[in-house]
Amino acid sequence: MAGEPQDDCLFCKIVEGHIPATIVRETETTVAFRDINPQAPVHVLVIPKAHYANAAELATEAPELAVDILRETKAVADEDKLESYRIVFNTGPGAGQTVFHAHAHVLGGRGMQWPPG
Ligand code: AMP
Ligand code: ZN
Repeated sequence: MAGEPQDDCLFCKIVEGHIPATIVRETETTVAFRDINPQAPVHVLVIPKAHYANAAELATEAPELAVDILRETKAVADEDKLESYRIVFNTGPGAGQTVFHAHAHVLGGRGMQWPPG
């Protein structure tokens, strides 16, 4: 069920402390940790503690959590002193989503190209 922890979900395991992560921030509803395979000098993932499959499900089932995530992306950028940065929600396998627990990528510390690949 949306919002409930999933046994087979990597990011639920990080939330529960069963898999280690380099956590940079935590709130009542969110966790932010460094991506294990960084694509930029700063690459942090911001996730809701509750399980939603992707940004679309989060937006429809728990929009208040989507706001929490967005607020935390700003806090991460401030802590890493990023003036410019990119926030990405890969949504669906065709867009490159590989972990099906909603997450925002915060990428910064280098120049970014547009359009993205
Ligand atoms: P996505 O492809 O948008 O679903 O993003 C999933 C991200 O999770 C990728 O950038 C991975 O590098 C990252 N990732 C996978 N496993 C871990 C982990 N154990 N700790 C931190 N980041 C991870
Ligand atoms: Zn999960």
